[in-house]
Amino acid sequence: MTRIIEGFMKFRDKVLPEKEALIRKLANGQSPQALFITCSDSRLNPNLLTQTEPGDLFIIRNAGNIVPPPGGQASGETATIEYAVKHLKVKDIFVCGHTHCGAMGGLMKPESLTGLPLVRGWLSHAEDLRSWIDGEGARMPADQRLARLVELNTLLQLEHVRQQPTVKAALVEGKLRLHAWVYKLEDGTVQAFDQVQNSFVAVEDATRQKLGAQVHEAAAVNSVMGQIIDY
Ligand SMILES: [Zn+2]
Repeated sequence: MTRIIEGFMKFRDKVLPEKEALIRKLANGQSPQALFITCSDSRLNPNLLTQTEPGDLFIIRNAGNIVPPPGGQASGETATIEYAVKHLKVKDIFVCGHTHCGAMGGLMKPESLTGLPLVRGWLSHAEDLRSWIDGEGARMPADQRLARLVELNTLLQLEHVRQQPTVKAALVEGKLRLHAWVYKLEDGTVQAFDQVQNSFVAVEDATRQKLGAQVHEAAAVNSVMGQIIDY
């Protein structure tokens, strides 16, 4: 028997009885606090990372925590964002990248994607980072280049989120907050993008800044993202 099936047996016999009331309640409907968009990488577990329960997070996962920009065909990502914002009325959207991301490694070295045409096509939604990869990125020490690319991709994909019509409308109405996070596989810590410092900082420091800047958040995200991404 595989570990996965054994895991389910353990859930059914040991965990489910403890959470039975919650599970039953959720059968009547969900009201998640946040939409969490992250990479498919097996080393990152959104519920473990945020200590959340079933019903708390609406989750999108794919290679590279990518969100196609609006204007193209409907995708699973854009449809799920629309549903989360318009129907479920989530209050927060997180885009969470992570260090040592294989998708971002592939974006940096397209020659490594030989034989993976669908991955290469998917990564075209991060192609705006190409000028950074070939310019400033190429001049960075190799060990820092991928980590910085992960940060920039997280911001780019959050910008794609912001451009979705439903998100734009909710931001104007002050009903939504956007967050860019990077999870460090090395030590399990998270850094969050801070609009005031214009950089990734410890998540608790970013939150503190955010409380003061909340009123102007929609405008701040807009202008800071523009600065960051316009390389
Ligand atoms: Zn990844």
